[in-house]
Amino acid sequence: MRIGLDLGGTKIEGVALGEDGAQLARRRVTTPRHDYDATVRAMAALVGELEAETGRRGTVGVGMPGALSPATGLVKNANSTWLIGQALDRDLSSLLERPLRFANDANCFALSEAVDGAGAGARVVFGVIVGTGTGGGVVVERRVLTGPNAIAGEWGHNPLPWPRAGEWPGPPCYCGKTGCVETFLSGPGMARDHLEATGEPVGAPEIATRAERGDAAATATLARYEERMARALAVVLDVLDPDVVVLGGGVSQITRLYESVPRLWQQWAFSDRVDTALRPPVHGDSSGVRGAAWLWGPGEG
Ligand SMILES: [Zn+2]
Repeated sequence: MRIGLDLGGTKIEGVALGEDGAQLARRRVTTPRHDYDATVRAMAALVGELEAETGRRGTVGVGMPGALSPATGLVKNANSTWLIGQALDRDLSSLLERPLRFANDANCFALSEAVDGAGAGARVVFGVIVGTGTGGGVVVERRVLTGPNAIAGEWGHNPLPWPRAGEWPGPPCYCGKTGCVETFLSGPGMARDHLEATGEPVGAPEIATRAERGDAAATATLARYEERMARALAVVLDVLDPDVVVLGGGVSQITRLYESVPRLWQQWAFSDRVDTALRPPVHGDSSGVRGAAWLWGPGEG
């Protein structure tokens, strides 16, 4: 049995999966915000409940905001700031008396979709979360690709490529730079672009709804958005050449992207043709917790 925990800023989600990916049990608790020790205890208790309910012991994988620093083993880059600098791996594994695996939420999303979602059967999957931010994760042959800095796939803070007039130096980003891909492709990025073009303060979902109804300004905003996404993903195609790119997050619900972006990225990728597929997610909100469970592969643990 594989147990996955998805540690979020407001809730901790837990799932127990059988060998075939079938869900055996699922629970969620409220995250004890700003209390690290209570957060670790809540995670351990959740595992205990899942094992009591199923009567089985499982491997445990954890999806989390940010990452464990490969250099120090401590949490970094987490927007749940009370986790930063803590030895989450050591503390939770000593409570659970077993080794654990950790990955950030974008990596868990990519893994979930690669194992039995939109990228099932593909060798290389790039998962992108386009919501309040823009993150990414790389999965190769059902394993999350990690590196010495734990940043593989973090493509949202590279600059928007082939900038046009008005796109450079670009909007300021929370990371301290300007013109990051995230400042254009996140939901708030789309809303900002629409505001600048029209003076209307409208969120990304409403822009998509208006475009569906034929609103010219919203259609133009989406066309700019799609062209930028195509340029940004063309760089990923050149570096990684994935079989499948899966979109997640709120923006992934805009269905026209799956037709328009692959038509547009052909002209930017360094190839006479592009056979990479761009697909919507299969597991939706469950992909974080399912991906965490799949951090332990077949026959492991
Ligand atoms: Zn940035």
